[in-house]
Amino acid sequence: MSCSPVTRDLFDAFMVPNYAPAAIIPVRGEGSRLWDQEGREYIDFAGGIAVTGLGHAHPHLVAALTEQAQKLWHVSNVLTNEPALKLARRLCELTFAERVFFANSGAEANEAALKLARKYATDHFAPDKREIIAFHQSFHGRTLFTVTVGGQPKYTQGFEPLPPGVTHVPFNDLAAFTAAISERTCAVIVEPVQGEGGVTPATPEFLQGLRELCDRHQALLIFDEVQCGNGRSSHLYAYMGYGVTPDILTTAKGLGGGFPISAMLTTAAIAESLNVGSHGTTYGGNPLGCAVAGAALDLLSDPEILAGVRHRHEVFMTGLRRINKRFGLFRELRGMGLLLGCELAEAWQGRSRDFIRAALDEGLLILVAGPDVIRLAPSLIIPDEVIEEGLNRFERAIAGLLA
Ligand SMILES: *Cc1c(COP(=O)(O)O)cnc(C)c1O
Repeated sequence: MSCSPVTRDLFDAFMVPNYAPAAIIPVRGEGSRLWDQEGREYIDFAGGIAVTGLGHAHPHLVAALTEQAQKLWHVSNVLTNEPALKLARRLCELTFAERVFFANSGAEANEAALKLARKYATDHFAPDKREIIAFHQSFHGRTLFTVTVGGQPKYTQGFEPLPPGVTHVPFNDLAAFTAAISERTCAVIVEPVQGEGGVTPATPEFLQGLRELCDRHQALLIFDEVQCGNGRSSHLYAYMGYGVTPDILTTAKGLGGGFPISAMLTTAAIAESLNVGSHGTTYGGNPLGCAVAGAALDLLSDPEILAGVRHRHEVFMTGLRRINKRFGLFRELRGMGLLLGCELAEAWQGRSRDFIRAALDEGLLILVAGPDVIRLAPSLIIPDEVIEEGLNRFERAIAGLLA
């Protein structure tokens, strides 16, 4: 093995070029701060893309992971394990769900949900009930089925032929949806807050309308809460804030606080269709992931932490409005809880990535959601003073870019 220094050059030399990571390499994280190889410090408003909802190296999560690491790592689903059973029971206590399927990523949870919806239709309805309706700008993952269902053509181009039976209609447009749904619809999948597509919350009337029309046409309603779930909306799951209950809910990202794990939640009656042998995954429900997610859920379901998300939302919005008063850079500030989107004004549209670079130079990590929106998805327990310090860095980055 080579012992020459580990530098960013190795990415281009040895890794598939599907990502374009920044020039710095983080080596350590604590709370809402990261440090790179040179010891330079960064404030983290990105959260590893809405994943590290409890910050980096949270002691409760580190304890759960290291304790489990001494005991049992993996047995496959030929056997079950205690952390998975405890986590499934807890998720059912906390939500509408009666049955849980664990996987390892958001895409896999959605793949399971979509396959379940098709299988449920096979088991209960006429053979032509196969169609899935999804929404423009939606994002559901990168497997071939989930990119096909996602509403962003840039992610399917070049990967054809795509699985058939998927229709897309505009988001938050109940009239278009009403025209699209029929007896042939087996499932509708929607993000209560669109994340990748631009940080756009659904209107309550829209989700309510989807629920009613799905019931009328005996279609399953799937909420993709991979990004907006696990406390990020300021409710444990966003559906709770909307008061609209899905038939199937998928989640991942914040569930493991940085450890890869995802879950699909559903009712006992619907779950019946994933009978023995019909679907599976080697790692899903792995003891390490479930132990960490169990610890994360202890905190994410705490009403004080969720109230703290509402408070931090206000701190962020106040700061962002102040910044916008100075620069007039944003056409709209939107989002829910600690999933925030700053849509760039006309003159700056298409340039969201420039702000990532400028922020990095000031010691701040931010995200984009498409070319026109800057996205923030910090830790749900980021201290107020770190928010202020990060916003000051953001303001300096903007001032530099606009100068
Ligand atoms: C990130 C994301 C996914 C995909 O999750 P992966 O873990 O990357 O597979 C699916 N749906 C939504 C809403 C997401 O934000």
